[in-house]
Formats: sequence, structure tokens, C-alpha cells
Amino acid sequence: MKKVKLSLLSMIALILVNNSIAGEAVGYYSSGSLKDGLSYEREAPFIHKLFKARNRLYSTDDFFEVVKLIDQVVQGLDTVGEKIQIGDLSNLKGGKATGHASHQNGIEADFVYLTVNRRLQSPSATYWEEEFVSGNKLSPNFDLPRNVQLFEFLANDIPTSRIFVDAVVKREVCHYVESKGIKGQARIQNMLRRLRIEDLHKTHYHLRLFCPASDTSCKPQSEPPMGDGCDAFSQLVIEKSERVPSC
Ligand SMILES: [Zn+2]
Repeated sequence: MKKVKLSLLSMIALILVNNSIAGEAVGYYSSGSLKDGLSYEREAPFIHKLFKARNRLYSTDDFFEVVKLIDQVVQGLDTVGEKIQIGDLSNLKGGKATGHASHQNGIEADFVYLTVNRRLQSPSATYWEEEFVSGNKLSPNFDLPRNVQLFEFLANDIPTSRIFVDAVVKREVCHYVESKGIKGQARIQNMLRRLRIEDLHKTHYHLRLFCPASDTSCKPQSEPPMGDGCDAFSQLVIEKSERVPSC
């Protein structure tokens, strides 16, 4: 009898857990909220979470599943076992995250670019510890081949709407895929299309997912314009009409 009772309690606990991780994105990236957000502190010890004191530790379960996939892919690109480093996600209930225009509905986060030296930044730091763009150049610690592989995965194998990066990062990714003779491939073209230039991304990239199909109150952003954007660095292709600044 006691055993049955325990099983019943376990089932109830499971239902509660399932409910608690069924996070839902509500509204728009820059004017939304998050229902039942999932906490990374509790659920994702495999990531290296930065800015812990800000308590922007929450996302939908869809985003969390994506982070698990990113972790697997990064492990596959690496022989050292690099941890993925995440800055801000969303607040417990989403909404305004000071210092960001977006990050409001649990389907966006900031990630440190993959590095050559694999150095982990301090979780107690109050701001990014490393810039990967100096003047008009990438720093030697920016691991261009692995970042390109990661961006290709993000753009094609998960429901990515946009990846925001610094203009120098985009330019160097364009040059790299051109030099490898792969720029015309469909997966590379889609990656370049979703790699959007935005200020304040010398230290990290920002990943934005599409609204999950089940989150019916989530307001989608229109798709980025067609084209790889590699020929337009003189005028920096920024989507002025519907720009949702992100950092
Ligand atoms: Zn961001």
C-alpha cells in the first residue's frame, strides 16, 4: 500500500514538474512575457551561466531543448569539452530586461562566441570579460571555423529566426565560406541570411528562435530579407523597418 502511495505521489510530482517546464512565450520579443519559465540554475548544470546575479535565468522549454542540442553540437566540434557560456536569458516572468530591448518572452539568449583558448568567463562578473572584435578585425581568440560550423547548425537544424552578430563577424564569416568554396550552398546561404548585423555584439552572439507552434499568444517577426548580405558592408544591412534591437 505504501508503495502505491509513493507511486501516486511520484506521478503527481511528475505532473507538477511537467507543468513547471511547459514554458510559454507570450507576445513579441521586445514587448512580451514568459509563462512558467524554466530555470537554468536548476535544469542545466552543463552550461556555464554568466551574470548570475541578474537572475535572468529563464526560458521556455523549447528554448531549453535547443540549448541542450547546442551543447551536444559544441561537444562534437571540440576535443577539450568546452562548456557553452550563456549571458542573459529572460526574467522569471519575462518582460523588460534592463539593458536589452528584447529578451522578453523566453525564446532568446546571448552566448559567448566559441574561442580558441576555451577560457570560461567568471559567472560573478557584471559584464562580458572579452571582446572578439578589435577595430576592424576579429581577435585571434575568435575560433572562426568552429563558429561557422555552429552558425550553420543553428540556422538550419533548429528553429532559428535570427542570429545577431557584429558586422566584422559577419564579414569574416562571408570571407571564410567564400574561401572554402561553400558560399553558394543552400545551408550556407540560409545561415548568412539569418546572421544579422547589430551593434553591441563584439562580445557575444544573440540567438532568437521562431515562436514555438504551441505558443499561440507569441507574436512572430517577419522573415529576414532574402540574400546573404555579404556584398553590403559599406551600408551595413540593418532591418530598419522592423528592427528589434538586441544585445
Ligand atoms: Zn541579446
